[in-house]
Parts: sequence; C-alpha cells; structure tokens
Amino acid sequence: MKEKANLVLKKALVVFFCFCTFAVCAQENATSVLNHADKIRSSDPERLRSILKTITPNTLSKSDRELFEYLSAYSLSMSGKLTDAILLFEKLEKNADLNIRHRSIASLITMYAGVGKWTEGLEKLVNIKANFEKVQSQETRENLLSTFIVFYNHLGEYKLAQSFANDLLAITQNQRNKCFAMAESLYSKLQSGQSLTQSNFDSAIEDCKDANEKILETGIISFLAEYFIKNRQYSEAIELLENNIADVEATKYAPMLAAYYELLAQSYLEYGDYENAEYNANIILETKDQHQYQQSITTAFKVLAATSEKQGSYEKAYYFYKEYTEALNVQLDDKLAKNLAIQKAEFDAAEKNAQIALLDKENMLLKTQALLDSESAQNKRLALALLTMVLVMFVLWTYKNRRNYLRMQHYAQTDELTGVANRHYFTQQANTAIKYCKRTDQPVSFIIFDLDYFKRINDSFGHQVGDTALKTAVNAAKLACRKNDIVGRLGGEEFGILLPGCASHLASFIAEKCRKAIEQADYSSSGHELEVTASFGIADSSNSEYNFEKLFAGADFALYQSKDMGRNRVVQYQKEPASFHI
Ligand code: GH3
Ligand code: MG
Ligand code: MG
Repeated sequence: MKEKANLVLKKALVVFFCFCTFAVCAQENATSVLNHADKIRSSDPERLRSILKTITPNTLSKSDRELFEYLSAYSLSMSGKLTDAILLFEKLEKNADLNIRHRSIASLITMYAGVGKWTEGLEKLVNIKANFEKVQSQETRENLLSTFIVFYNHLGEYKLAQSFANDLLAITQNQRNKCFAMAESLYSKLQSGQSLTQSNFDSAIEDCKDANEKILETGIISFLAEYFIKNRQYSEAIELLENNIADVEATKYAPMLAAYYELLAQSYLEYGDYENAEYNANIILETKDQHQYQQSITTAFKVLAATSEKQGSYEKAYYFYKEYTEALNVQLDDKLAKNLAIQKAEFDAAEKNAQIALLDKENMLLKTQALLDSESAQNKRLALALLTMVLVMFVLWTYKNRRNYLRMQHYAQTDELTGVANRHYFTQQANTAIKYCKRTDQPVSFIIFDLDYFKRINDSFGHQVGDTALKTAVNAAKLACRKNDIVGRLGGEEFGILLPGCASHLASFIAEKCRKAIEQADYSSSGHELEVTASFGIADSSNSEYNFEKLFAGADFALYQSKDMGRNRVVQYQKEPASFHI
C-alpha cells in the first residue's frame, strides 16, 4: 500500500517536473520569438504581423508582455492605424519599464508627426533632447537620434534633421541605422533643394539592401523618382516606380504605397498618359482610409482635375478642382499648425528661462532674509515688509512686461482702423506664403483693390464717415475671402489679398465675390446712404512668377486698367498681349 502511494507520488513529481520544464521552456521560447520579431520588425512587417498572431499575451511574463505590446503598436503603425498605435504607445509610456518606455516615447514622437500633433510631439522631443546626454545605452541613443531626424524632417526643419542624421551616421555601427540615416538625409536634401546626383541615391539603396531594409529601400527609390520628376525625366520616373511597385505592395506599408501611387499619377500626367494618371490617382482616393496621407490625397484631386480638363470634361474638372482646393486647405492648416507648434516650443523655452531667473531672484531674496534674521525683531518685520513689496513688484513687473509685449506685437502687425494686417506684416506673411507655394509647387495669386472715388465721400460727408465706410468695405471683402487668404492694408484705401494655392480662375471668382460684397454692404452705420465700390487687379504666379514685387506690380497694373475701364470691376493682369476684362 505504502509502495503504491510512493509510486503515485513519484508519478506526480515527474508530471509536476515536466510541467515546470514545459512552462520554463514555453517562457524562454516566447522570449526568443519576441526578440526575433523585434529584430525583423521594420524589415519584414508582414512576418511581424504573423508572429504576433501566434502569441497568447496572457501567458507572457511582464517584460515579454511589454515587448509584445510595443511590437503590436509598432505593427499597427506600419499598417497605417496611427490612432490605435498612439493609444497603445501612450499606455506603455506610462507603465512600462525604462527601455520600452524610452522606445515608446521615440515611437510616439514619430506618430505625433504622422497625425499632425506637432505641439505634443515637440513637447516630448524637447524634453527628451534635454536629457539626451544622460542616456547611457548606445542603442537607445541611436533610437532617439532617429526619432529627432524623422520628426524634424516631417516638420520641414531640414537643416536640423540633416545635422542629426550626420550625428547618427558618425556613431552608428548598425547597418539598419546607417541605411535609415542615409535615407532621411537624402529626403531632407531633396526637400530643401540641395544639389544631388543619381549616385547619391544608388549608394544609399545599396546600404539598405545590405541591411535587408526593404521599406527604407523602397523609400529611397521613391525619392529617386521624385528627383527624376524634379528634373523632368518623367519616363525614367515611371519606369523606376512601375518596376518597384510590386515590392512595395508586398510590404503592405500603406503610406509608402500612397507615395508611390502619387508619384506615378504625377509622372503619368506630365508624360501625357492621362488614363494611367487617373488610374493611380483613383487608387489613392479609394485607399485613403488606410493611409490617411493628406499630401497624396491633394495630389490625386489635382491630377484628376487636370486630366478631366485635358479630356474636355469641364464639369468633372470643376468638381475635382473644388475638392483639390479643400484638400489643400487641410494641408495649409497642417502647415500653420506646424509653425504654431514651433513658435509655442520657442515661447515655452523662453518662459522656462524666465522662470529660472525668477527662482534665482527668489533665492537671493531668501538669502538676504536669512542675513536679516540675525538683526532685531523690529528690523526683521521691516525687512520682511520690504521683501514682500519687492517680490510683489517683481511679479507685477513681469506680468506687465508680458502684456505689453503682446500688445506691442499686435500693434506692430495690425492696421489700427481696419483691423487687417498692416503693410509691413502683410508683406512678411505674403513672402512666406509665396515661398511655401513655390516649394510645394502650388499656384499663388495676388489681388489689389482700391476704393472708387473715395475722396468724394470724404469731401461730401467728412473724414469720420469715410473711416466708417472704409472699415465696412474691408470687413465685407474679408468675409468674402477664404480662411487661409491673407488680407492687408497697403496704404490709404488700397488693400492687398494674397491667395495661397489659388490659380487665376479661382482668384477671379474670389475677387468678384469681394467686389459684390463691397458694393452690396450696409453702410448705414456711417449715418448716410453711401454707394461704395472698388476696382480690382489680379496677378498670379503663372504670369508674375513666385515673387512678391512682381506679383504686386502685375496686380497694380491690372488695377490701373480696371480704373481706366470705368471702375467697379475685376481685371486680370496678362503679360502679353494687353490684359482682358472679366
Ligand atoms: P479713384 O481711386 O477711384 O481714382 O479715386 P479716389 O478718390 O479714391 O482716389 P485718390 O487715391 O486720389 O483718393 C484717395 C482718398 O482716400 C484720399 C484720402 O483722403 C482718402 N483716404 C485715404 N486713407 C483714408 C483713411 O484712412 N480714412 C479716410 N476717411 N480717408 C482716407
Ligand atoms: Mg481710390
Ligand atoms: Mg488710392
């Protein structure tokens, strides 16, 4: 009986031992599977996805589960599901151990750039940049440098991106990071118009082949295609893209696919093959929920508008132009958000310095107080009162200074009477917008309008009535413009409107809207029944280049013609022959 019990016990022990070994093995197995998945995460996203599917998360240890979650978020981001990826990374940033936390912050910064959350991205980036010297692990340092590069490239700060790419190239021994730094550095050079040759792209492609980084390799190929398009080598661009699109489709990396279709649509359009241009533009629109890539969407509408126009389908062309303008507005909003984020980051840094100065000051006051502690009680009370006064005055002074600064900035930029930008600020804003349009290959238009026979209003009713009429007219014109148009007072009763992304036909339409708005506005607040009209002149980048002075001169010339032709009308500037009237 005892023997039997012993046997049962032994059997139970063997089973228990086997179970334990199996559990440990399973644990070790999961760790090595996850580590392998981590290694191939960017070179083979499809494999990463299938490995993750085989894993049951609730059997994992804490650190394995964190790596599993990190890789799941990474995989989501690779299939374009940025919002879901961000939620998961944010969770890991709060709860995970240091290594995964750092990696999640790095990924978050990149994701924020992807969804246009510039302020959040910059905040994290500035924070982690300040602590960069303290990061010991070489792998984490390289990971963070890669993040800075991606973020600054997305933000359009190409010089900064390039300098971090050089830093990464200088320290890395890792083939993947080398390929990555080369790819991003090529991108920043291409975007900032630096001189490049085809061999620059070829050697970067070789580096990425060595690293087996398929996605980055296809990325560089797309930059090479962009380089061909910039050099008007359209058939070379088409051949390169068509030869590689199957490889990109195999990676299932949605944003890269969108970029390829965009480049194909553009090249085919320029090449004159409208059927293929339309085909590729349509794919971008059909898959837009997957890639959420605004620039490709804008280009798709632009290409469809152009092909419809070329094929004589004017109604379709009109529809696509409208969609194009709306898509462009979304893109311009994003650009504006980027600029605001940069300004906010600079402002926050300045504020932090001011805070440090304030702390220094408080410190000094505390020291003085300590010194005074040794004096008599009477003296102490007096000194304390003095200290409080100094502190209150200091706080008031800081507050007033800041308020004055904001008020001064407003005065320096705004025309007091009409509330629109003054000539100096308008010129500054217009120059920036013109440069942006040139860089992104969009049209830009410039409208000048001048109120008709305005002197008569002043002479008949007095200057104050004139002022009210001026304000009302400008307000009416402003309401007729789009959100992104820049309105400014050029002097007297003459105003300028800069219309980014707007070709001549749309500019005429908007000018006509402004003209009617001024003519039909309600001027009764001046206390008189006034008839106010204005004459308009328009120039655009197709006839006056991307140059503020030339646009100004063209629009001004057209304005004079409008006055000559009897006022209260819109005239387009035309280089050759004489201008025509709309
Ligand atoms: P047109 O432009 O149609 O040729 O005739 P106009 O009478 O408008 O032409 P002109 O440029 O000679 O006169 C512009 C007048 O606008 C002269 C000036 O008294 C008036 N003006 C300019 N700025 C202001 C302002 O801020 N308030 C008022 N009330 N009048 C202004
Ligand atoms: Mg006038
Ligand atoms: Mg005038």
